[in-house]
This record gives sequence, structure tokens and C-alpha cells, in this order.
Amino acid sequence: MPTSKNDLPNDLTTLLGEHQAHVLLTPGPTPIHPDATRAFLRPMLGHMDREVFALNGEIQADLRAMYGTAPEAFTALLAGTGSLGMEAGFANLVEPGDEVLVCANGSFGRRMAEMAARYGARVRLVTAPLGEAIDPADVAAHLDGVQMVAVVHGETSTGVLNPVPRIAELVRGSGALLTVDAVTTAGMEPFLAEQWGVDYAYTGAQKCLSAPPGLAPVAVSERAFARFSARRTPNPSWYTDLGGLRDYWTDHTYHHTVPVNLHFAFHAALRAALREGLDARALRVRQMGQAISAALAPLGFTHYVKRPEDRLPTVLALRLPEGLDDAGIRGQLRDRNISITGGLGPTAGLIWRLGLMGEAARPEPYRVLLSNLEDLLG
Ligand code: PLP
Repeated sequence: MPTSKNDLPNDLTTLLGEHQAHVLLTPGPTPIHPDATRAFLRPMLGHMDREVFALNGEIQADLRAMYGTAPEAFTALLAGTGSLGMEAGFANLVEPGDEVLVCANGSFGRRMAEMAARYGARVRLVTAPLGEAIDPADVAAHLDGVQMVAVVHGETSTGVLNPVPRIAELVRGSGALLTVDAVTTAGMEPFLAEQWGVDYAYTGAQKCLSAPPGLAPVAVSERAFARFSARRTPNPSWYTDLGGLRDYWTDHTYHHTVPVNLHFAFHAALRAALREGLDARALRVRQMGQAISAALAPLGFTHYVKRPEDRLPTVLALRLPEGLDDAGIRGQLRDRNISITGGLGPTAGLIWRLGLMGEAARPEPYRVLLSNLEDLLG
């Protein structure tokens, strides 16, 4: 192991060459962007260092661009995974007895409902059959008296894209806050927080941005911050408290020790995404999805999500051909250093979920997957 800066290999591939190449095509984590790998290796700085505050300021501005927020929106990284971003929304913005309408058409919608209930919400569920999107008319029918509506944009467990812009249009006039899980969308799919009227959004660094896991980028509207400031009771979660996060991210006073090297890596990955352009990334994922589903059709794979407009571009959910040995084939692929993911819960054994987020949405790793599948199944 290198012991000083001078011992660090100039060529990163020397370092990475110690490990076997791996084709990671799961719906998260995604392969780390090379810029992020490089940035992660920067010498450590203190979490109160002026250079770190300057870098954090750039991250906050870049997150506003990624989420399409108003200029005054608060953005930050939470030191935890996407689930912490989810939890922070309910912890800060829900008080005991609040009515929260949760759209739950998969595992992550149900996780939202469970968290909201743990923070004392009276949860109203709007559901849809597995593999189908939430019907905005169902949201409209249950909006009366609701303080918050929560919806997963891209339901990773089934590969469904929920119609967030249409749901947001309904919520806008109601006075309720809108929380959106953008874990499989932000950074790869159009996300227009200000235009749609999203009050709280979160994702995980390891998804569409191809940064290491361990950070949850969040965006909070001014309206949501005002709701937080007017709480009757303190946020029961000290760690996620928006006041404490503002102390660090805006006022540069200590709250907790942020994972500085993850910030370095995240900054580089987000810069790379914005440099490529969010529209270009949305086009890349669509082209990749079409090419892969067309290539797998002759082997008997079909779309799990019936309506094309309900399909989440970043997670390709494919129904398995009759008789395919799901676990066996995925095990054989893993023996060849290729990782893909099966279904989750009720879709286990029924579908495969192929990740098309960030650096996974590239032709080369999919060429490797396809040639190995043809070999195993052909
Ligand atoms: N929400 C969605 C839509 C997800 O896909 C995931 C993870 O896959 C999460 C939330 C939870 O994120 P994490 O596993 O990073 O805590």
C-alpha cells in the first residue's frame, strides 16, 4: 500500500489492475465513474476546511442544476444511502397525526409508507397492480385534508415510471407538500423540481451518478423549509435535522463529520454528469434500453411493464423466457464476473432487472452480457 503521496501510482489502472474486472449491471450500485475514483484518492482534508466548504458550495449549486430547483432551494448531501434521504423527508416534514398520502406500487413505495407511519403519520395508500403506474385520478380522489403526498418516481422493484409531473399538477393547488423519491431518475431522467412543484427530493450517490454509495443528495424547497421551521415538535431524528444540516452547509458551523472523500468523489461524478448533459444522458439510456431489449427478444425475453409510457428507462425489467433457470443462470454469469439482478418480492423468479443508470448504460458491458447469455442459453 502507498504510504505517502509520492508512492501513489500515477496510473490508476496499476492500482485497479490488482482487482479483477467486473461487469456490474445491477440496478445500483453502478460502476464508479473514473473521475470519481480518482477524486476519492485525494489526500484527506478536515470537514471544516475552507476548501471542503468551497467544494460543498459547488456540489450544492450542481445539485440545484441536477434537480432543476429554484435558485433559493436548499440542497445538501446526507451521510447515508438513499434510504436516509427517504427517512429525512418524513422526519423533518411530518408531525404526529399528519395525513400523508403515499403512492405505493412496489417495494420502495411501501418502504415510504412504513417510514411515514413510524414518524407518526396517518398514511393513506394509493396503489396500482404490480408492473403498472399510479393513476393520477386515484391521487386526486384522496387528496382532501392531506399534508404531504409521497411518490417514487422510478419504482426499481418493478421497472415502472410513475407520472410525477401529472401527480404534481394535482398536488400543486392542494396545499400539500410533494415528496419525490428520485433514486433511479435524478441525474439521468428529466427532473424539474421547480416547474413541477416538488418540495423534497432525494436520491442515492450510487445510482444515476455512478459515485460510491454512502451519500444521499437532497433538495428542499423554500416552502418545505418553512414547514420544517414552523414545526410544533422537534424533528425526532437529530442526525437528519434540517436546522443542523443548514448550520453546516449554509453557515459553515459544525454539525457532524461529513465523509470528505465521498464528497470529493461525488463532486467529480456530478460534474461529469453535468458536463455530458442531462438531455444527452436521457437519450443515452433510451438508446441503450431499446438496443438491449431488441437483442434479448430472440432469446425469449419480453417487457414486464406492458404500457411503453410506464417503463422506467433506467431499470429494464424483462420477463424471463419459459423454463429459464433464473438463479442458476445468474449464478453462472457471476462465475464469469457479470452481475445482474432478478426480481424483488413478488417478481422474484419472474423477471430480471438490468441496470441502465450512469456508467452501466454503456455498450461495452452489455456486449459482454449478451455474448455470455447467448453462450449459456443458445
Ligand atoms: N428508493 C428507490 C427507488 C430505490 O431503488 C432504492 C434502492 O435501490 C432506495 C430507495 C433505497 O436506497 P438505498 O439502498 O441506497 O438505501
